[in-house]
Amino acid sequence: MTDVHGDGGAVSATALIHHGYTPPGGFAAVQPAVHKASTVIFANTQALHARQWKDKTGYTYGLHGTPTTFTLEERIATLEGGQQTLLLPSGLAAIALVGMALLRAGDEVLIPDNAYGPNKELARGELARWGITHRFYDAMDPSSLEAVLSPATKLVWLEAAGSVTMEFPDLSALIRLVRSHGALIALDNTWGAGIAFNAFEVEAGLGVDISVHALTKYPSGGADVMMGSVTTRDEPLHLRLKATHMRMGWGVGANDAELLLRSLPTLSLRYHAQDAVGRQLAGWWSARPEVVQVLHPALAGSPGHAAWQRLCTASAGLFSVVFDDRYSAAQVHAFVDALRLFKIGYSWAGPVSLVVPYQLSVMRSRPAWPGTLVRFSVGLESATDLIADCEQALSVLR
Ligand SMILES: *Cc1c(COP(=O)(O)O)cnc(C)c1O
Repeated sequence: MTDVHGDGGAVSATALIHHGYTPPGGFAAVQPAVHKASTVIFANTQALHARQWKDKTGYTYGLHGTPTTFTLEERIATLEGGQQTLLLPSGLAAIALVGMALLRAGDEVLIPDNAYGPNKELARGELARWGITHRFYDAMDPSSLEAVLSPATKLVWLEAAGSVTMEFPDLSALIRLVRSHGALIALDNTWGAGIAFNAFEVEAGLGVDISVHALTKYPSGGADVMMGSVTTRDEPLHLRLKATHMRMGWGVGANDAELLLRSLPTLSLRYHAQDAVGRQLAGWWSARPEVVQVLHPALAGSPGHAAWQRLCTASAGLFSVVFDDRYSAAQVHAFVDALRLFKIGYSWAGPVSLVVPYQLSVMRSRPAWPGTLVRFSVGLESATDLIADCEQALSVLR
């Protein structure tokens, strides 16, 4: 039989693979090791048959967890005040997992009208095709949630602050209503990032069942990783989610987990730094004659400011401004195009400040303002430079 490696080489290919060397144990570094695997090797058939993927007592297959992903899961659970975390390849996949794992034909899911847009699209698309109905409610009006709660309601989404329009709802009032009804409560906790408030804290009037987090945003902080998480504080609920997670094959890459583990230690510092600059900019915009409303929950006069104040001490570095409707959408777009430091692009919490214009009339069933809205996400540049950038770009409106 011929050996594809050929004969007579100095080193056998087999020896390079089945090498006898084992490095010494006890290597202590600040960052956890990055373990990469599809295959996990079992010592014998008994070990193969004894091990399963459902708990973290061992390893079965790369998709079902490695020391690196287990470590990241534990740290995200700690960050959020939860007990179990599942990792997914994006924040949107984390949202999808919740619906897929917990709903069946005939069930209804309730979603805030100001929720992250693709959450609503998932309900209108796949969930509707699978016989799962949905209704949207106004998160700023608990009676609007009460009006749509029904025996079919099995899952209620919350989001604080609202996507793009940044309204901060009275979470505890909404949670009380759903609790008396018995449906599960899922919160999109990307904005709060585990820093602004503790979603699981029953004493604060919260205590959601599920917290979903787009780790793509603050936990990454680098604008270079996509990942999501689903955190719970109830083992049976976690296992329901985990079973679907396993069957869908939604694993994450070791190098992406590594980047998250690298970024997590600075999460709190970055959150507070971007918060400080975000508030400075929002304050500056409040005095500008070109805008009719600045939307930032920490700003007095912004929708839900009182609810934010009761629950939070910090805010994400995100805010929106609504331009006076004497300016056309084209004029506002010209302002956005004239910005130099603020780049045009989706997502947030990275090092580069970002901006996106939105037309409220196509996003909300009852838009509160007629004008064009611009959402700003603060990066890590200096506040003075960012304000100067806004000021120079506004000159296109004169
Ligand atoms: C970005 C975002 C998501 C989705 O995260 P991806 O990782 O981009 O899929 C979900 N919810 C909110 C509030 C977000 O900002």
